Amino acid sequence: MAHGIRTPKFDTIAVHGAAADAPTGSGDAGSVIEPIVASTAQAFASAQEMEDALAYRTPAWAYSRIHNPTIGQLERTLALLECYGTECSANALATASGMAAIAQAIEPLLSLKHGAAPNFAIAAQVYGGTFQLCNVRMPERGATPRWIRRADDAAEWEAAIDEGTRFLFVETPSNPLLGMVDLRMVADIADRHDIPLVVDSTLASPALLRPFAHGADIVVHSLTKIIGSNGTAVGGALIARRGIRGTYLPNEVTEDFAGWCKLYPFRDTGPCMSPQTAHEFLSQLRTLRARVRDHSRNAMRIADFLARHLAVSRVHYPGLRTHPGYPQALHYLRLADSGEPLFGHLLSFEPKGGVEEARRCFDRLRLIMRATDLGRVKSVAAMPAISTHQQQGAFGRALAGIPAELIRLSVGAEDPEDLMADLDQALRP
Ligand SMILES: *Cc1c(COP(=O)(O)O)cnc(C)c1O
Repeated sequence: MAHGIRTPKFDTIAVHGAAADAPTGSGDAGSVIEPIVASTAQAFASAQEMEDALAYRTPAWAYSRIHNPTIGQLERTLALLECYGTECSANALATASGMAAIAQAIEPLLSLKHGAAPNFAIAAQVYGGTFQLCNVRMPERGATPRWIRRADDAAEWEAAIDEGTRFLFVETPSNPLLGMVDLRMVADIADRHDIPLVVDSTLASPALLRPFAHGADIVVHSLTKIIGSNGTAVGGALIARRGIRGTYLPNEVTEDFAGWCKLYPFRDTGPCMSPQTAHEFLSQLRTLRARVRDHSRNAMRIADFLARHLAVSRVHYPGLRTHPGYPQALHYLRLADSGEPLFGHLLSFEPKGGVEEARRCFDRLRLIMRATDLGRVKSVAAMPAISTHQQQGAFGRALAGIPAELIRLSVGAEDPEDLMADLDQALRP
């Protein structure tokens, strides 16, 4: 990557990807924008070449379920962005969705042969799909989640860990309450037990947070959200730093977890991305930092507005001093390169008057769309209890502390004055 001693800045990597250093016009027939390699497979010159490629003895992409040059460009760019400003080097695996990325990350950690029956410790404040995957699907395979209610309590983590614990999992900031996790504290616990720390960093994106800098081993993303904010594609990614924790894992797995997943379990289960989708995400990644900055500034203004609104009882936004995660947010969430403290595009609020009033307010939104979606360039609102976090039931919502009247708002790129006007009319009695 280095031009002598200088390494490219975040925006330069986002714009040029792994080619940020290559001589101009040296590849892809001189295309300014990387072409889409829309081919299912690669042709080989001989039986020998084919055999070597499929045995992973020579660099090749072979078949688009396993690998593809366009998907590879996205993966290299994501790995560089996640390592930005850290000492780490990493490899990435693009997947069909964010859920596929999470499943690809945790399944091999649970299923690789090891003594005791597997369990894992996971902070209870996570995305509803993650809750289901961990609370329903994993127990079906004999792996037990140990839910951590207070993710900032080291003793609760420690008490959950025994010889069967395969990994720790956190989402920070969390969806939908924007809970913040002290990554360094949890990473120190992962270190003591030599088990990997997996971080869902979807809401922050690498523009605000690079968990590898704070001791994470594996980062997962739903690319569907702020990275793909135009809202035209579903996708995910798993990014693992070289040499993840985990004495119970074979060396080839800890050495390059993402690369190993790609060549073996991912190849065999097949939740791949299409090259067209990878190209879409590559295009949108180029402006990630600017979008995160703009959406976050808008969200801060709207959080302030709602916090002062007489018809609102509570606002959950880590940029507000009243938020329990404010000190952590101030420490962990900083815009790449500028260092500006910014708190992301997502907030939640509770209108006064309980769930009936909240539903009424929700129904009256005009400009802000009602959708189970977030990270969009268009502002969208959801009521988690009846949408994203419906399936986990009252038990799961109580565990994560999600009230029925909560409205989650993903702030887009509209003029915030217009968004405030919409919220104000919706909140009026
Ligand atoms: C949406 C989301 C996911 C799941 O991603 P999909 O692309 O919808 O599968 C995982 N984690 C978080 C924090 C999310 O917001």
